[in-house]
Amino acid sequence: MTTDTTPTFYVDMDGVLAMYDYNMYLPGVSRENLFAGRKALIELSNKNAPGKLARYQIPWEHVYRDLPGDPVAIAIFNALYRDHDKKAKVLTGLGCPYLLSEQMLDKLWWCHSHLGGFDNKDFLCTFGSKDGAVTHLKNLTSMDILIDDYNENLDSWRKSGGTPIKYVNGINSARADMFCLSSVRTPFENLKNLEDFLKTLKA
Ligand SMILES: [Mg+2]
Repeated sequence: MTTDTTPTFYVDMDGVLAMYDYNMYLPGVSRENLFAGRKALIELSNKNAPGKLARYQIPWEHVYRDLPGDPVAIAIFNALYRDHDKKAKVLTGLGCPYLLSEQMLDKLWWCHSHLGGFDNKDFLCTFGSKDGAVTHLKNLTSMDILIDDYNENLDSWRKSGGTPIKYVNGINSARADMFCLSSVRTPFENLKNLEDFLKTLKA
């Protein structure tokens, strides 16, 4: 994707910049029970408070909007964004096929709320699995760097010619076959290790 010799960083959201939440990936939420659940909550609300506007929240709605940030990953991103001429981008997948617009806007809102001086043009998202989308990328070079917590995405990125870096976030495992950043190291330590790693890439 890049043609020059300086790195561009593509940074994942869920499990990297934003804390991972298992609940949002629970199976069994279909379009039918999504709307059945909404209808039942509105009816309950009307019964309890007739005439009042129903307030309801179902699991799939706005799941990304209020996720807590990972302070280490955010500090790393902000440093890369600042020091690498904004050559850091967010690359994220959207999870629910029925709420793509809402999820995209919530994630973009999240980026503006948590990342310093974030620009819309640096927000990239895939519809469906990132792993599947990455498989179709052409012309990645070693200077295209994916920072992600999910092995499938990292392996696909490497197969497509890019450099994968795993973010070890406290619930996944480090890999011996690739450089890792870690949520239990300080941003300073991570950035120092990253700079050393980047030198090996250019060599
Ligand atoms: Mg992730």
